Amino acid sequence: MSVNSDDFCINITNDPDLYFPDGNLVILTRDEVGNHTYFRVHQSILLKHSKALSDHIFPDSPSPVRDLYDGVPLVEFQEDPRDLNTFLKFLYEPFYVFSAAPIQRGDPDIAFKMYGALKLADKFSIQPLKDTILSYIREDWPLTLQAWDEREAFYSRRLKNSPGSTMDDVAPEPASVIRLAREFESQILPVAFYHLSRLPVNATYGQHNQAPRYARGVRGYLLSPADREKASLGRERMLRWIVDRMESLMLDTWQCKGDEGCHVHIYWRVVVLHRSVIRSMDVLSTLRSMRSHKLERGTSEPVEDAVCHDCNGRWDQLLNDARCDFFNSLSSFFPDL
Ligand SMILES: [Zn+2]
Repeated sequence: MSVNSDDFCINITNDPDLYFPDGNLVILTRDEVGNHTYFRVHQSILLKHSKALSDHIFPDSPSPVRDLYDGVPLVEFQEDPRDLNTFLKFLYEPFYVFSAAPIQRGDPDIAFKMYGALKLADKFSIQPLKDTILSYIREDWPLTLQAWDEREAFYSRRLKNSPGSTMDDVAPEPASVIRLAREFESQILPVAFYHLSRLPVNATYGQHNQAPRYARGVRGYLLSPADREKASLGRERMLRWIVDRMESLMLDTWQCKGDEGCHVHIYWRVVVLHRSVIRSMDVLSTLRSMRSHKLERGTSEPVEDAVCHDCNGRWDQLLNDARCDFFNSLSSFFPDL
């Protein structure tokens, strides 16, 4: 149904999934343009999941005079209808989360899609729902370097196995995660900011035009000016960190125990490393790709290498140590998270 009001038209609808004829309560929500959506639900079901939710709707005292809709009490919620639909589906269809798109384990955009439902779960103290959503988020934003590497490899495999998709279709977007993490999971903020800081400032989520498939984007409108500033400062600090680290290793005076002239090649590796970091803004990926392990480069065949075995081993150890230290320093690059 549509209602004309002065100079605009609003739609009034009953939610197609959650309007039960035998429900004893109707919840009204309005979207950002004022469209009305009604949900007809059961107090007993709400109470079963959350006393706070039931108390919110039916406070003990004083007993308010209620409006009626379709013959039953009406209450209005401020939340977006889509968020309330998702939230109520968890209560009415507990297996929904495991079976039906768009909300399921492994959905890379779960932080964006589930933010509203998570806030409702928090508001009404439905801990199992909070735990479920946050456990999915944590899978995407691990807190160890090994798990981070595994996750990066996982996204690459997903992209490879998803012809026609871009990386935004298969890997999470940082701004929506930062918004959620600020309220509910602050420990993942450093890794989320790291990912944000390695993306081009103008990389818009889902709009890459001629960019390669593996390019990733940001919902910039979700970022506050302060968060943009943090990301910029983080970029600057990370670049300084890697320059300082390489300098402190004094690689320009590299000594080859076998006297095979490896120092020239090591010197050039450092040049390439800095060039790659500047180009990609991705210290962890660059340090990984610069290691000399042949298997890391996708082949089990021995390849010709101008650097001797001993020097390669020392070089790899230096890079591995730098990667660990860098990852463990992430929170220091972004102030006051
Ligand atoms: Zn050597």
